[in-house]
Amino acid sequence: MLKTEEKKSIFQNIPHFDEAHKVRNPGLQLKMMKEAIPSFKKWFKQTGKASAFHSCDLILAPYPTKYGLFRAGSSPTPFIWFTNRMFIVQWEAEGRTWTMLNEPTETVLVSETPFYASLKEKFGDFLAHKVFSKEYAKVEDYLKLYGLEPEDIDYITYDHLHTQDALRWLGTTKPQADISPNESIKPYFPNAKLIVQQKEWEIIPYLHPLQYDWFQPETFNDIPEDRLIFTNGDVLLGPGVMLLWTPGHTQGNHSLVVNTDSGIWVSSENGIAAECYAPKESCFWND
Ligand SMILES: [Zn+2]
Repeated sequence: MLKTEEKKSIFQNIPHFDEAHKVRNPGLQLKMMKEAIPSFKKWFKQTGKASAFHSCDLILAPYPTKYGLFRAGSSPTPFIWFTNRMFIVQWEAEGRTWTMLNEPTETVLVSETPFYASLKEKFGDFLAHKVFSKEYAKVEDYLKLYGLEPEDIDYITYDHLHTQDALRWLGTTKPQADISPNESIKPYFPNAKLIVQQKEWEIIPYLHPLQYDWFQPETFNDIPEDRLIFTNGDVLLGPGVMLLWTPGHTQGNHSLVVNTDSGIWVSSENGIAAECYAPKESCFWND
């Protein structure tokens, strides 16, 4: 479903970077972002701290070197490997604990992404699964590890929607030919809603050819509407937990920002060049 008018988010919008987001001059935009950071950090710290923050390794997956290390260095192999991690974040508000899964990748259905499906076709199932990738554990395993039930999950979100297939998590309004041909899918997480930037949702029906390899657009068609929460820009979810709009890799990319006892942590898949993996070099988060 396509949302064309701007939806009001249920979460508090954070204005610190609004002016910088409007600027299309990239150098000026970076300057304005940097100037906005000190007051943002001061404000964010005083919102409080998350009550839990767990990092969970899910799967080691190949990624084209030409994208991952754009213009920096060379590699004899066409792939680099990255670990796809999920974060479990909890916060306290309105007298209860709220729980969100950031990046709960469905490690089986992710392989239907055109890029990974073509690897399977080229190298065969064994090579594609056993040599090119390695599964550490599934989302469900980590819930058990941390004593969580599926119904405890209030929200799920993804940095961006490349490769993702959330149908099994959120359920569907109709049967699905591949995994549930006769009846609609019952959600694994009965209470969870997907938080997604409206801009990310709106690119799915109109994919640019450069994006064809990375999306599974048809898997978003039948998610029940009441399972979606649209955001526009930077939003505070709860004390010490926010999603910062970080367009680049995709237009609706957002990054998880969490205040903890060990400081402020940012998780982002917004890697479009080697510099992105050394953010401190840009002085972005320096005190
Ligand atoms: Zn991506």
